[in-house]
Amino acid sequence: MELSGGRTGGYHDSAGCGPLSKVAVMEGQQRLVPRVARLFKPYRPQVGLVLLTILVTSGLGVANPLLTKVVFDRALFPPSGHRNLHLLYILVGVMIAVPLVSAAIGVWQTYLTTVVGQHVMQDLRNRLYEHLQAMSLRFFTDTRTGDLQSRLQNDVGGVQSVVTNTVSSLVSNVVLVLSTVVAMVLLSWQLTVLSLAVVPVFIYLTWRVGRVRRRISGETQESLSELSALTEETLSVSGILLARVFGRHRDAVERYRDENRRLAGLQVRQQMVGRSFFALIQTFFSVAPALIYLVAGQTHLTSGTIVAFTTLQTRLLFPIGSMLQTSVEVQSSLALFERIFQYLDLEHDIVDAPDAKALPPSQVTGRVGLRHVWFRYEDDGRWALEDVDLEVRPGQLAALVGPSGAGKTTISYLIPRLYDVTRGRVELDGIDVRELEQTSLQDAIGMVTQETYLFHASVRDNLRYAKPDATQAELELAARAAAIHERITELSDGYDTIVGERGYRMSGGEKQRLAIARVLLKDPRVLILDEATSALDTGSERLVQSALEPLMEARTTIAIAHRLSTILAADVIFVLDHGRIVEQGTHEELLAADGFYARLYRQQFQGGLVEARCEDGVVLSSGDVLTTSA
Ligand code: ATP
Repeated sequence: MELSGGRTGGYHDSAGCGPLSKVAVMEGQQRLVPRVARLFKPYRPQVGLVLLTILVTSGLGVANPLLTKVVFDRALFPPSGHRNLHLLYILVGVMIAVPLVSAAIGVWQTYLTTVVGQHVMQDLRNRLYEHLQAMSLRFFTDTRTGDLQSRLQNDVGGVQSVVTNTVSSLVSNVVLVLSTVVAMVLLSWQLTVLSLAVVPVFIYLTWRVGRVRRRISGETQESLSELSALTEETLSVSGILLARVFGRHRDAVERYRDENRRLAGLQVRQQMVGRSFFALIQTFFSVAPALIYLVAGQTHLTSGTIVAFTTLQTRLLFPIGSMLQTSVEVQSSLALFERIFQYLDLEHDIVDAPDAKALPPSQVTGRVGLRHVWFRYEDDGRWALEDVDLEVRPGQLAALVGPSGAGKTTISYLIPRLYDVTRGRVELDGIDVRELEQTSLQDAIGMVTQETYLFHASVRDNLRYAKPDATQAELELAARAAAIHERITELSDGYDTIVGERGYRMSGGEKQRLAIARVLLKDPRVLILDEATSALDTGSERLVQSALEPLMEARTTIAIAHRLSTILAADVIFVLDHGRIVEQGTHEELLAADGFYARLYRQQFQGGLVEARCEDGVVLSSGDVLTTSA
């Protein structure tokens, strides 16, 4: 798969249908096999030891057939005609000892190769996970979660047998074949040439079969990815909800069946490609001794030589067959390595500058500025923000308002550097966020998003995500401030209650209040708040609102404001439209200016009922100014 894309493009493959969009493949992509070999570099001593054991066992492997010749020609049927029983006992003793020693070394060798293989796999999986963890938000918006899971599990899992067995089996077989061939040449070079004449044909056919296997293997992994993605999307709470509501669950089943059928077909093909070819090799080696007897009949070789030769020749069957089989498997696994390396080669587009500054949380004042910021999500896409210039002073509450798609969320992403600006700069305390260490930014800025993400863990663990060493007293303080403590104590296991997949066991308002408690524990200098538009009932709204008040105190807050109470409380309101700031000021100033904001406000808030509710101090719910075009 050819990967393409510029720095701010999407993560798509050239076919445009894969999960990888904007990628940067490392310049001068390294070749695959040396790269796979490099994975073993940290384990050189162990690999050296494995090679040594292979040499020893392979050497021992040819000992017995060669001893057979001595048994026949010197002990059983010596030229003198008198059996040499003393020699026979010694030889038989050695012939029993050799396989025993060889087997013991073999067990140890298997242990060593398994340990090395498993460590290589462990490293690969860790590297891949760590690499993906550091990818920017852009990558995840463009990639299906199922595909990521599949690469970590199926692809890395798929190379397991190759990593653990192939290297050792390939080396041991090569050594075994070489030592056997040398021994055969020593016995009769003519018969050796005859025995090995067809091997080049086998090698060529193996290469062909391997290529087909590699292609099928790539397709199989894609199919596995597709299945994982389908499962992830359709067997999640949201997926099931959507399917039930739209009556589409049969459709999901059909899609799953189709993909599953394709996978089964591919796997059958993968198993069968080259099967008849391997059967041919097997047959050849089985009939080869008979052919040797036929030819040897025309020569003057001793019976000991002929028996030893055919024994050696039979010993070739297994290693040659297994080498050919292994090389085909290696080819298949190269397709998997390709997919793993594709992800490992993805460039991290948001990284710390080499001289990035640390900004300790205690020193952050919380001044946030956007200076002539232009931003677009894709290289050739349209501008999501155009020349946005704004300043929020420490401790201020700034409200971002504007119609849907105006660019409010985009601004909220640029401040914690979830995306980098295309032009202009975003500043925290007057420093370009690209010059700050990301950890400093993460410590200074907290976000409460509309869609609250909770882990399938206890309430306590979800809260401690913000501060792993928080005490129970701190948890409760934050939960009380967020007006959720009472509710938590009512749950079956209190703070130990499992919130369920993504918090689905909690109501929308409860989840939001938990998220607010979580940010309170983090205690960031700058808070970015994306107010929920989902219609919470008035009681929940009021609870959420009262939870927000302590959160906004004494820190800079930038709120994507959907509630009138937030808008009214804001020190400054930035009105956005089509990616531009069209107005800014306080609610009164903006009303007095009688422009875009005033129009939006009148449209939404000047109905009798609405105003009455506002006067009552009741928080208005969503569907307001921000989601309506002027
Ligand atoms: P809303 O109130 O509906 O949430 P918003 O003002 O927050 O809207 P943004 O989410 O900032 O709007 O989106 C601004 C523009 O950028 C929209 O036109 C949107 O379609 C586009 N956009 C948002 N996210 C992406 C993305 N990941 N890739 C490409 N375009 C995007």
